[in-house]
Amino acid sequence: KAIIKIEGITKFYKVGTQTVKALRGVDLQIGSNEYVAIMGPSGSGKTTLMNILGCLDSPTGGIYVLNGTDVSKMNDDELAEVRNKEIGFVFQTFNLLPRYSALDNVMLPLIYAGDSRQEREKKAISALENVGLSDRITHKPNELSGGQRQRVAVARALINNPSIILADEPTGNLDSKTSVDIMNLFEDIYKQGNTIIVVTHEEDIAKHARRIVRLRDGLIESDQINENPTLYQ
Ligand code: ADP
Ligand code: ADP
Repeated sequence: KAIIKIEGITKFYKVGTQTVKALRGVDLQIGSNEYVAIMGPSGSGKTTLMNILGCLDSPTGGIYVLNGTDVSKMNDDELAEVRNKEIGFVFQTFNLLPRYSALDNVMLPLIYAGDSRQEREKKAISALENVGLSDRITHKPNELSGGQRQRVAVARALINNPSIILADEPTGNLDSKTSVDIMNLFEDIYKQGNTIIVVTHEEDIAKHARRIVRLRDGLIESDQINENPTLYQ
């Protein structure tokens, strides 16, 4: 079953009198429980595509159906609602709130879900256990290592049971040993049945995915099954 279905997606930016064609007609389908890497050189449209897939921005043209809902023509408020429900984000810079504990950071997305505080705490503790951080629940981001911070971010991304996890250069700020830990964690959450999309320019990171989509100049250049994914290291 397709979770993501995009057809003829374009995105044009007006810069002064020029038009920058960041995406020039992209077709892509991603099914439930796929693990996809999106690659491509700088300027090829990765961030633009990721912003559209993540409902952070709408396309200039084309159709985007996310988990059965056509989101292509939604306004910002409607997109925000879909985003909270359907997408879990993991960023290169972790994007945690510095004054909040790991637990509070993970609980944050649940505020919109209408659960009681007790219910939210229970879910967040279980999410932190799932990423191996049960002994860091009350720690603030600056009391955690980079890898631990990214684990908190992964727990936060998973807390609402989103349709897709969108990770933008998730190991970009981590040393190579910690990067391996985080990719092992992605392997675990993939095996738990999640759909994962990782945007990266690093081949070593992309090799963990089961499918590799390459962009060039705003178009898909190739879309291949990865026959030999990197498993646990
Ligand atoms: P990548 O993430 O692969 O580096 P981007 O999606 O960021 O690619 O950029 C694709 C193209 O669109 C580039 O030419 C870039 O300069 C341009 N671009 C991206 N965002 C904007 C923007 N907000 N305004 C104008 N041009 C943009
Ligand atoms: P990354 O490639 O790490 O995702 P960015 O998304 O910040 O980096 O930028 C990608 C490209 O898009 C860069 O070449 C940048 O100059 C261009 N870009 C981003 N935002 C704008 C903007 N508002 N106006 C023009 N170009 C932009």
